[in-house]
This record gives sequence, structure tokens and C-alpha cells, in this order.
Amino acid sequence: MLIDTYGRVATDLRVSLTDRCNLRCTYCMPEEGLQWLAKPDLLTDDEIVRLIRIAVTQLGITEVRFTGGEPLLRPGLVGIVERCAALEPRPKMSLTTNGIGLKRTAQALKAAGLDRVNVSLDTLRPDVFKTLTRRDRHHDVLDGMAAAREAGLTPVKVNSVLMPGLNADESPDLLAWAVENDYELRFIEQMPLDAQHGWKRDGMITAGDILASLRTRFTLTEEGQEERGSAPAERWIVDGGPHTVGVIASVTRPFCAACDRTRLTADGQVRTCLFATEETDLRAALRSDGEDGSDETIARIWKQAMWGKKAGSGLDDPSFLQPARPMSAIGG
Ligand code: SAM
Ligand code: SF4
Repeated sequence: MLIDTYGRVATDLRVSLTDRCNLRCTYCMPEEGLQWLAKPDLLTDDEIVRLIRIAVTQLGITEVRFTGGEPLLRPGLVGIVERCAALEPRPKMSLTTNGIGLKRTAQALKAAGLDRVNVSLDTLRPDVFKTLTRRDRHHDVLDGMAAAREAGLTPVKVNSVLMPGLNADESPDLLAWAVENDYELRFIEQMPLDAQHGWKRDGMITAGDILASLRTRFTLTEEGQEERGSAPAERWIVDGGPHTVGVIASVTRPFCAACDRTRLTADGQVRTCLFATEETDLRAALRSDGEDGSDETIARIWKQAMWGKKAGSGLDDPSFLQPARPMSAIGG
């Protein structure tokens, strides 16, 4: 098991497949993009599948989420999903994507064994989308979501980040649209994980702001703690159900005590937390011969890394330091 000194057990693995992206969301990346990882530094498809196999068969991982960067940019994605679906025990598998290209790949991903998708969409207004992501691709995202729903990659969850002065007024419209289209909407508080270090706590839209805004149009009833489990989203039933809306309030209502995650970057580093400032290298072991590169050695290094997981994100600590890797390179 991947257990830490606080007794938390990680069963949910987030795998970043690439640090590259075809959007430039202002809260994530600068306009000019970033210095991408060099190809030889990236894990190969075989290396990724091997690590997931070790995680599933030796370390108690039951859920795998593929992310990035933009995971649909990874050429081998469908093959990776297919090989992971053949593992025993078979992990649940989902994908977090900006939805561009999903129209083309949704059926193949479903056939390969993917269970669900989370698609990020912050606005219903194409002009605001263009300002927020610096690309004119609103339509592609909507098409991708619809294709995912039709392919049965359900429930299709939608992730929205609200930014002051841009889309902060859109939460009720987004919820009405999500209910109508049978998508499960979750708002994510903006976190200090952008490469440009532009996050300001004073300026951010909080869970409290979002809920107040939603309540101007909807009746929200909080779901119990039992239904929530270790999920980062607190959920509310909308107008008596069956639809729900979630808020992931990592900044103002952190859920670190219930965290069940471990993360793997596209260059093979284990991270115990989004906000961790230290990483543990698995790639060197993966590329070693003999005992140093055995499944048992890799599993042992991974366990040791998780044992050192900190109690919390440290966001509220005056000495908080933003991690060197931005969200797109960690795998959000
Ligand atoms: N490119 C894919 C996407 O956008 O869904 C996957 C990677 S992205 C880093 C994963 C999620 O992180 C997205 O839902 C995105 O909105 C969110 N995200 C990125 N930067 C963030 C930030 N600074 N604060 C909160 N959420 C952020
Ligand atoms: Fe790309 Fe996702 Fe970051 Fe937007 S949030 S720039 S889509 S990685």
C-alpha cells in the first residue's frame, strides 16, 4: 500500500502524459508557452504502462487518471489506455482534457477501455474563451464534450475555473447549461500553480463567492460527507436533483486530510501533492538494469516517497512557496 505517516492511503494515481498544450489558459501558462520537456526525458509508452502495472498490482492503486498538459496530444494515448484496461485488477480509468480533439478520439478511447472524461470549460462565450485560453477553439471543446457523452464516457464532468473580470459572473449560466446537457459541473478555485506566478489570494473567486452566485438562481442542498468520501469536490444537489454541482475549494476549504492521491509526472517523477516542493525519481530506476531496475525496487522507492507526504498543502502557511513546476507540468 502507498501509506503515509498520517495514515492516508493513496489509491488514486494521476499520470501526466505530456507537459505540452494547445491552449494557453491565463491561469496556467504564459502566452509564449513553456520550455517543454525534451523527448528523451519523457517516459515512453512502455515505461508508463509498466509503472501503472506496478502501481495497480503491487501498490493498491484502483483508479488512474490521465492528464497533462493536454493528454490528447500524446500519440500513444489510446494504446496506453488499452494496455492498462488489460491489467489485473483492472483500474478505473479517466482522462482530464481540454476537449480539443476529443470529437475524433472519444469512440476509440471508449473502445480501448476508458471509463470517463473530465473536460475543462470555463465559459459559454466564445469571445471570453478566446481571451481566457488565447485560442479560438470554443466550438471544438463543445463538440468534444458532446462526442464524449455520445461515446458513453460518462458522467462527463466539466471543470471550470472562474477568473475575476472575465467569467466570474458566469457560474449560474454554466450550471443551467450543464444541467440541460447532462454534464456534471465542478468549479475549481484558482490555485497558485501558474507558471507566471500571477495568482493573488485577494483577487481569486472563492467557493463562498461561487455558492452565493449560484444560489441567486438555484436551490442547493449539500450532499453528506459519506457520499463525498475522499473526493476533492464538495457537492450540492441542484433544485432537488438529480443533477449536482461541485466545488473544489483547494484554497479556502482544503481537503488534505482525506487525500488519496499520488502523482506521476511525464518525466517519471513521483509527487505526493500538487503543492509538493520535492519529487522522487522513478525514471532512473526504470532505466536501470538488474535489481536496481526491478519492479520490487520501483515499488519500494514509490512507497518511501509516499511515506514522506506532508500533512497539507501549506497554502495557509506564511512560508508557503509555490512549487517550481507549474500545473501543466505536474499534471492537474
Ligand atoms: N489540459 C487539460 C485540461 O485543461 O483539462 C488537463 C490538464 S489541466 C492542468 C487540469 C485542470 O487544471 C484543468 O481543469 C484546469 O482548468 C485546471 N487548472 C490549471 N491551472 C489551474 C490553476 N492555476 N488553478 C486551478 N485550476 C487550474
Ligand atoms: Fe492547457 Fe489545461 Fe493548462 Fe489550459 S489548463 S493551458 S488546457 S494544460
